[in-house]
Amino acid sequence: MGKESPFNNNRRKFIKGVSLALGTTALGIPLVSLGSCQSGNSANTEEQPGQDTSQKKKLGIALVGLGNYSTEQLAPALQETENCYLAGIVTGTPSKAKEWKNKYNIPEKNIYSYETFDQIKDNPDIDIIYIVLPNGMHAEYTIRAAQAGKHVISEKPMATSVEDAQRMIEACKQNNVSLSIGYRLHFEPHNQRVMELGQQQVYGKINKIEAADSFVFGGSPDKWRLDKQLAGGGPLMDLGVYCVQGACYTTGQKPVAVTAKFGEVTRPEYFDEVEQSISWQLEFSDGVVADCTSSYNESAGKLRGEAENGWWELDPAYSYSGIKGETSEGEMDFPQVNQQARQMDGIAQSIMDGKASRVPGEMGLRDVKILMAIYEAAQTGKRVEISY
Ligand code: NAD
Repeated sequence: MGKESPFNNNRRKFIKGVSLALGTTALGIPLVSLGSCQSGNSANTEEQPGQDTSQKKKLGIALVGLGNYSTEQLAPALQETENCYLAGIVTGTPSKAKEWKNKYNIPEKNIYSYETFDQIKDNPDIDIIYIVLPNGMHAEYTIRAAQAGKHVISEKPMATSVEDAQRMIEACKQNNVSLSIGYRLHFEPHNQRVMELGQQQVYGKINKIEAADSFVFGGSPDKWRLDKQLAGGGPLMDLGVYCVQGACYTTGQKPVAVTAKFGEVTRPEYFDEVEQSISWQLEFSDGVVADCTSSYNESAGKLRGEAENGWWELDPAYSYSGIKGETSEGEMDFPQVNQQARQMDGIAQSIMDGKASRVPGEMGLRDVKILMAIYEAAQTGKRVEISY
């Protein structure tokens, strides 16, 4: 086909996209380079371009999986977005379909079940399909969404295996659609400041990073997050991915090796398939070490960096609101923002502009490689080198 897709990513276009995307945030905070984390959504030159969005002012998003995150965060955020809106839903529960249809004024023709999902390809209202299902289902639905010619956002962690993450990227390339991961903190001012402090070495060379993300898992143990098949693992997959992210966006680098250790299981009724807690150390090529922990049995949410001439710390670092930051010079003074609204607006804008996503599938793949290496290190007790 003659038409060139915006996701047909030759190098020149990619560099242009990145340098523009790295301009400034709405707050005027320079967006520093994401370093090796950033690699765009490369697409091959072959054909089947995703739907033409060039004439649209707002892109239509369909949420797949109307669980807690969609209900409490994404749908409300989509009432505040400027570049996208809640156009459709995919759910296996007819009562939810009815409730959402009334609450958000969603036309019947934009409501799908998992069985009718593939028919979205014929629906011009839907530009982006946002996969908000259990981790082990991200790959299947991302691939089906790409085959329907729609741009995709997949929630974190991108996948439960490196192979699945690679298949997701490949499917999006083949169908010339963009793939982004729901990494909302790339759109959050305190975390953006950490990227700047670390990557631009504002306080000199980094000596050390510490990251922790944990919560106490309660209620019924009959949850997909405790099911190895659906979750891919325990707190590491769910929460530890934020620590991995934090270490990577502090340094702007990929870790080269990891050591790790599982914590003791004190609640076997919950943790018979996935770990209860895990600690790990990411080694970067310049000698920086990130010391990380994640648990389903305590509360934590911290990202700290220490450098030659100063330090910074976010605590809480990863929550939806109330993020607080301090540096060796005093408190950070940034507003609280609707992270999900900014994230979806940012991704929609990049699609409309034909630019690389700030949180591309390749970043998700990098993280899945790191997560799998952490598990290997914990299982073998050995230092595991990570290849990308
Ligand atoms: P949830 O359990 O509240 O919702 C999961 C949804 O998937 C439900 O609507 C459920 O009906 C549906 N589903 C379909 N098939 C299923 C199956 N076989 N088993 C279980 N559920 C099935 O989960 P959630 O908290 O909304 O998480 C969904 C995804 O979003 C996960 O990947 C999670 O990591 C991610 N998430 C991201 C953030 C973030 O801050 N970015 C926050 C929360 C969750």
